[in-house]
Amino acid sequence: MRLASLLLCLAVASPAIAQDQTTIPEAALETAAQLREQALADDTSWRVTESLTTEIGPRLPGSEADARAVAWAEAKFRALGFDRVWTEPVTFPRWVRNSESARVVGAHAQPLVVTALGGSPGGDVEAEIVRFADFAALEAAPDGSLAGRIAFMDFQMERTADGSGYGDAGPVRSRGPSVASSKGAVGYLMRSLGTSHARVANTGITRFAEGVEPIPAAALSLPDADQLNRLLERGPVTVSLSLDVGFDGEYTSHNVIGEITGSGGSDEFVVIASHLDSWDLGTGAIDDASGVGITMAAGHLIGQLEQRPRRSIRVIAFANEEQGLIGARQYAQRHADHIGLHLLAAESDFGAGRIYGFNTGAPEHARAATRQIAQALAPLGIEHMDDQGGPGPDIIPMVQAGVTWAWLGQDGTQYFDLHHNANDTLDKVDPQDLAQNTAAYVVLAYLAAEAEGDFGSAPRAGDDR
Ligand code: ZN
Ligand code: ZN
Repeated sequence: MRLASLLLCLAVASPAIAQDQTTIPEAALETAAQLREQALADDTSWRVTESLTTEIGPRLPGSEADARAVAWAEAKFRALGFDRVWTEPVTFPRWVRNSESARVVGAHAQPLVVTALGGSPGGDVEAEIVRFADFAALEAAPDGSLAGRIAFMDFQMERTADGSGYGDAGPVRSRGPSVASSKGAVGYLMRSLGTSHARVANTGITRFAEGVEPIPAAALSLPDADQLNRLLERGPVTVSLSLDVGFDGEYTSHNVIGEITGSGGSDEFVVIASHLDSWDLGTGAIDDASGVGITMAAGHLIGQLEQRPRRSIRVIAFANEEQGLIGARQYAQRHADHIGLHLLAAESDFGAGRIYGFNTGAPEHARAATRQIAQALAPLGIEHMDDQGGPGPDIIPMVQAGVTWAWLGQDGTQYFDLHHNANDTLDKVDPQDLAQNTAAYVVLAYLAAEAEGDFGSAPRAGDDR
């Protein structure tokens, strides 16, 4: 132990704190500073993101491209010098999209731009629409009141930097179609959960409750939702919705994992993650090829060091995040017996915007180390934000099992202009912003792997998942 950290330990040791404080040695902080500058000047994350979006394109779970993406990720980990590369199977129901269209019929007949929600059944329906301003209004509709109608969910999500506008939208997409069906609706049309006024619609998963008849469900572009509102001011509106989509058997994809082996002989590792799948409308550049690029590049840069960190760096590209964190849930089940080996876990899955905030769910005894990591991130314009952030989506199942999360919060102001729509393509990714993200992940992963002490990960007692 270096003198500085020894003194720190002595300084904080008091009868009130029984557990040793986790700290990071000075030499590791020096190496992290070098890694940070190197990452800022490195284009690996850009090249990986470009490769995935160009060579594989859209990666709908269960599609032919899903299998190609898995093979691509294995090959890419190997090419980037990872010591161990392996896959773990992930099985789920396959959902396919063949075609989709909608139009207004009658006196003001015209086409509408729509996209089916993932999980929607296929079908052709033609019915009068009934508008709802938000989910609460839909829930308040009397049973049977939507019989023979198409519910039109007109909720407008807000643009925010931290994604809270999406959170506030709540279940309009995930549960709206199910609730509408339970009240008799034959179809569901929603204003896209998006912030772009381009004429593109945003997809995403929806789920029907058990015992509820699945109905065709689709999202409208924002201008098309505006158009329906103007038509409704003129009188009743009938829409014809035609979806050739639906579930088609079962599919087995894979989580793809690359590891940079630590030098300390420990079985412990730091997890940095992303998801390999995407929706099928764009090429999944910001959701989540950029996350794949950032985390693969971070692992690669650490692997290039002459001296490996004490613990391993585990980079995970999860399968099928989009349809319910399916790869992440199966990972957490598979690794339930070694939760404590997952020192700290973070996921990049909020686009490619610059990182502005850092936080962790680590307990008090790791506060000193957390502060040291924050100081190493500060030159990147990243602030230590207590009480903010949380685990990325694919980290949630392992956090529920007891793994400690870390958060590197990205500026998502523009994220929902592109999220789950046809405009999510590589030209929206800024290579410099990507490099800043990579630098942050390098610093976080390396310093956590070098920490003397833990970050509080331990199996959660009484967990029944
Ligand atoms: Zn995502
Ligand atoms: Zn997504």
